[in-house]
Amino acid sequence: MTTQPSSSVPETSRPLADRRGILFIISAPSGTGKTTLCKQLTSTVPGLWHSISYTTRKPRAGEEHGREYFFIGETEFQQMVDRNEFVEWARVYGHLYGTPRKTLIDQMEQGIDVLLDIDVQGAIQVKKKFEDAVSIFILPPSMQVLRSRLQNRASDTPEEILRRLQKVKEEVWSYREYAYVVRNEDLSHSLHELESVFLAERLKTKRLNMAWLERNFILEEEPKSRARKDLP
Ligand code: ADP
Ligand code: 5GP
Repeated sequence: MTTQPSSSVPETSRPLADRRGILFIISAPSGTGKTTLCKQLTSTVPGLWHSISYTTRKPRAGEEHGREYFFIGETEFQQMVDRNEFVEWARVYGHLYGTPRKTLIDQMEQGIDVLLDIDVQGAIQVKKKFEDAVSIFILPPSMQVLRSRLQNRASDTPEEILRRLQKVKEEVWSYREYAYVVRNEDLSHSLHELESVFLAERLKTKRLNMAWLERNFILEEEPKSRARKDLP
């Protein structure tokens, strides 16, 4: 597996302070490599912020409260649902997961692009609320590779791994709900493909603030000599 970060996205694609941040949604069957890819992307792509979800799942070895997730109990989670503090939430593999609304909106309003690593149910809810969101589905190369990634990660019990693998045959067809598909075989190749999506989305005409065009071309002062020459 290659873990070298690929070339970072060029300066020109830095978010403009005066445009709203773009919402990127990434989903994949468990064990595909989405967490690994998202961590790398937030370090290589400038102006990209990875949202931290709340979950009732117990932390895995090495996970920290407030870094991978905010780990909370079911009662606290339900209170947050009642206070409408989630943009979306869902039960995934038997645990509750939710995307906090306030930080997401704050980042987008500051022109920072937001990366959501959420499941398919969550992605469908977010796409309804944010029609401009860009959705990307990541697929593992095969069932065998996925199984060995989950086993090598050694972070879930054999029962939990089985529960996740049992859902895969159904989950892979969800790619149809997404705008882009990336097959995560070689890590650096997948990173390159994902960076290309971010770069292209940032350059979409509809997202650009073209006020500079008016400043530089329409409002530009005519040189005096030329203005005089043009007088009748
Ligand atoms: P997910 O977040 O999708 O459940 P992870 O990012 O935790 O998956 O990755 C699962 C395991 O697979 C980890 O041990 C990770 O290091 C490994 N992995 C991720 N991407 C690749 C890849 N392209 N090639 C080989 N191993 C990978
Ligand atoms: P894991 O327990 O392996 O970290 O994540 C399990 C699944 O929950 C993954 O598919 C992940 O994308 C999803 N997930 C993580 N956070 C959220 C969230 O806030 N909302 C939803 N709907 N799914 C989430």
